[in-house]
Amino acid sequence: VFKYVTRAPDIAVYAVMVAYKEDPSPFKLNLGIGVYRTEEGKPLLLNVVRKAEKLLVNELSANKEYLPITGIAEFNKLSAKLIFGADSSAIKENRVTTVQCLSGSGSLRIGADFLAKHYHQLTVYMSQPTYANHPNFFVAAGITVKTYRYYDPTTCGLDFQGLLEDLGAASSGAIVLLQTCGHNPTGVDPSLEQWEQIRKLMRLNGLLPFFDCAYQGFVSASPDADAQPVRMFVADGGECLTALSYSKIMGLYAERVGALSIVCKTADVASRVESQLKLIIRPMYSNPPIHGASIVTAILKDREMYGEWITELKAMTDRITSMRQQLYNALHDRAIPGDWSHITKQVGMFSLTGLNAEQVAFLTKEYHIYMSSDGRINLSGLSTKTVPYLADAIHAAVTL
Ligand code: PMP
Repeated sequence: VFKYVTRAPDIAVYAVMVAYKEDPSPFKLNLGIGVYRTEEGKPLLLNVVRKAEKLLVNELSANKEYLPITGIAEFNKLSAKLIFGADSSAIKENRVTTVQCLSGSGSLRIGADFLAKHYHQLTVYMSQPTYANHPNFFVAAGITVKTYRYYDPTTCGLDFQGLLEDLGAASSGAIVLLQTCGHNPTGVDPSLEQWEQIRKLMRLNGLLPFFDCAYQGFVSASPDADAQPVRMFVADGGECLTALSYSKIMGLYAERVGALSIVCKTADVASRVESQLKLIIRPMYSNPPIHGASIVTAILKDREMYGEWITELKAMTDRITSMRQQLYNALHDRAIPGDWSHITKQVGMFSLTGLNAEQVAFLTKEYHIYMSSDGRINLSGLSTKTVPYLADAIHAAVTL
């Protein structure tokens, strides 16, 4: 009965991973991955996560019963506090509903499905470019995807004028997907002044913000500072949605732990929204897994462990910043044509280097360096040892 099923195309980022794995070269370098790596190129399990797991072992093994459809209530409260702030009036007024979801992806998908069922304007605008999976969440929910200008390839920075023009021309009421910080794939974030202009324009045109918070804390090591764009929108009393992921910020990728929050105008609306979210989640996976969310809860609720998390978060962000500086210095030292200052101006885990598909193909073929064809690199895939190798390879690629 399945003989007419056609083969689906490979998913680009996984294809790069497979090619890297199969490459026998001892010099191979994987900059295409979307996960944090240590200076030794190893995955990082945070000490504070290990500690939380130890603490939880007895409690967890004693009880593996189903969670409620919306997950662990305390986890949801702490997640809302993490994004909106400890003194958020929206939280105090019970205008926020937060549900535990399967990481950032699950939160985006549940949010998209909720909007498809209960919102009147089924068009979403997302940045050009954006995380490759973003359109899929909304297309799957039956929402039309459009783009707004974001990245200026001539400066490798923000096309702020283009962004304002496109959002200014967006149909009234449209959904706008915004990345809170550490924009994937560009590493380009608006300044807080620019965010304020975006907020004013969006509120004026009645556009609905949906924030993807996959890197909250991964830019400045302060979850509060990184959440400022969201908090500016919440402070004006209007609605918004947020999809929070703990994959990167706590290194919990495979635990699939995240939260969808919907900020409403009143407590009554928020409670009705939550009742509808349950109807969306129930036929999809019934209820979320317990392990990852228990770890997050243990860390966020304990002052000491929270502090340890921030220290480890800072070690990750410091290493990334140092890699940016070292790469810039190495490119500068080689007097490679072009202005490479965007490498240090961009923030978060990624940099859109400005290398084109042909140059990327050259780096892979001649130097065994792997990255997506748009020239995006994961800075944490680098180390002090490998920076000179990459700089030499880029030198060769751009002076071909
Ligand atoms: N949003 C962005 C911008 C991302 O980069 C990612 C992961 N690469 C996600 C969402 C989803 O990640 P997860 O489902 O692991 O939270």
